[in-house]
Amino acid sequence: MSKYFSQKYKSLVPYVPGEQPKDNDYIKLNTNESPYPPSEKAVKLAGEYAKKLHLYPDPTCGELVKQLSEMLGVGKDQVLLTNGSDEILNFAFMAYCDDKTPAVFPEITYGFYKVFAQINNLPYEEIPLNEDFTINVEDYIGVNKTVFIANPNAPTGIALPLSDIERIVSSNPDNVVVIDEAYVDFGCESAVALVDKYPNLLVTQTFSKSRSMAGARLGFGIGSKELIADLNAVKYSTNPYNINSMTMAAGIGCLSDDEYTKANCLEIQKNREYTKAELEKLGFTCTDSKTNFIFAKSDSKTGEEIYQKLRENGILVRHFSDKKIADYNRITIGSREQMEKLVSTLSNILR
Ligand code: PMP
Repeated sequence: MSKYFSQKYKSLVPYVPGEQPKDNDYIKLNTNESPYPPSEKAVKLAGEYAKKLHLYPDPTCGELVKQLSEMLGVGKDQVLLTNGSDEILNFAFMAYCDDKTPAVFPEITYGFYKVFAQINNLPYEEIPLNEDFTINVEDYIGVNKTVFIANPNAPTGIALPLSDIERIVSSNPDNVVVIDEAYVDFGCESAVALVDKYPNLLVTQTFSKSRSMAGARLGFGIGSKELIADLNAVKYSTNPYNINSMTMAAGIGCLSDDEYTKANCLEIQKNREYTKAELEKLGFTCTDSKTNFIFAKSDSKTGEEIYQKLRENGILVRHFSDKKIADYNRITIGSREQMEKLVSTLSNILR
């Protein structure tokens, strides 16, 4: 750290992304990417837009906003596109938290929430999960803080029913409730249907998982037009051109090929159930994941041992050192072939 680094960042602990090794042919099951390539329509349109890279992109993302709003059944002024959903989550921390309005989120959840609170110098409270890793909904009823809930949650994969989300949103009318739906397309109910009923609800989603576009960095938020106007104010005060032209084009191409996305999501759900059943035969306990990953604990080896042994065998998964979840590994659902390789490797490791 240089002597020039602002004092306000002295205690900042940056988010640590999963490894992206380039030196080995790993089976990568550590960052919840899709095993399937992006839609060919996305690739083609991005290529065409590459020829226009001398121009700034459309800061309103007009065409993409139109397509998304039609798909989701909301107004064009109720959608905001961002550089990954990480960006809109950061905007929400900036826009809806301050000294009088702390953020609140589960103690075990997406690690970036804490980092967003810290970099923006915002107070926050972490609420422990139940023993079985479920969220205790009562903890968030009338909590009087800005609520951030990943639904399904990460890295547990467990989802709350929409009725519980609605109870949380309706009991906090004076605070914004952010529902992070990064994994919603793998078998969980979306809260988008509630945005017209609750002006305090912001739902965030991403093209990174179900739409095979993690490398493009494209996410979005849906909410009342007033919330979207707030977030646009933050966007235009930080980076008006937050979505580059090629990403915007890839997004447009991807949405025009929704059957491809849906088919991939179904395949991933099938592979998830296959993997879960096979791992349970090997003595693993898995949570009831509604995502493109499973969260699994062995009955005979530590989480760290499983992680290391898989790594030695060319398979990367994500292990978190936090004591409460150190017995577990988060394993991204890949293709059937990759999952079969995972199962046979684990079987050898445990033999
Ligand atoms: N929310 C959750 C729960 C996530 O796991 C991730 C992915 N790391 C994100 C949001 C952000 O994803 P992206 O910025 O790629 O949209």
